[in-house]
Amino acid sequence: MTIFKQGSGQVQLSEAQVRERVQVLGREIAAAYEGKPLHLICVLNGAFLFMADLVRAIDLPLTLDFMAVSSYGSRTATSGEVRLTKDLDQSLKGKHVILVEDIVDTGLTMNYLLGYLKGRGPLSVGVATLLSKPSRRQVEVPINFMGFEIDDAFVYGYGLDVDHRYRNLPFVTSQEA
Ligand code: IMP
Repeated sequence: MTIFKQGSGQVQLSEAQVRERVQVLGREIAAAYEGKPLHLICVLNGAFLFMADLVRAIDLPLTLDFMAVSSYGSRTATSGEVRLTKDLDQSLKGKHVILVEDIVDTGLTMNYLLGYLKGRGPLSVGVATLLSKPSRRQVEVPINFMGFEIDDAFVYGYGLDVDHRYRNLPFVTSQEA
């Protein structure tokens, strides 16, 4: 597990740091799920780049699917109420599922999604997230594959947005846009 902290509260993850970490996560997942029916679920929109790079770093046969959620509340205060805006296309029966998220902040979104997925009868549900802000957690959620733990700062880039912008940046930053 990589712990990334800067005392200043600033977060800066370079393109190379992200790329290297995603490769490591891909190898960890491949080692853990070899011989098993592996199914990755990307939470849109923020995890789309992480998902695209992660699946290419997993040297195993796998299937994948996408879901989209929107949470009520402002960008800094998730209410915990999550609305599914795109449901899964495929059944989870007989599959080992990994939910792929961009960031776990309060944990409320992940907590909701884990409950939802477990109710659809998979063999297991694991979690991969690029980023985690442990100091913000309101509900504990298990994270099996984590990119970076970061300080409490609003970050964007590499899939994460500020009002729908900056998702295409190849790095993650908390610098003011
Ligand atoms: P949680 O429910 O509080 O864990 O929030 C999860 C969601 O909030 C993430 O999937 C993001 O969409 C959004 N989010 C939380 N922190 C950030 C951030 O620093 N930058 C961009 N989006 C964030």
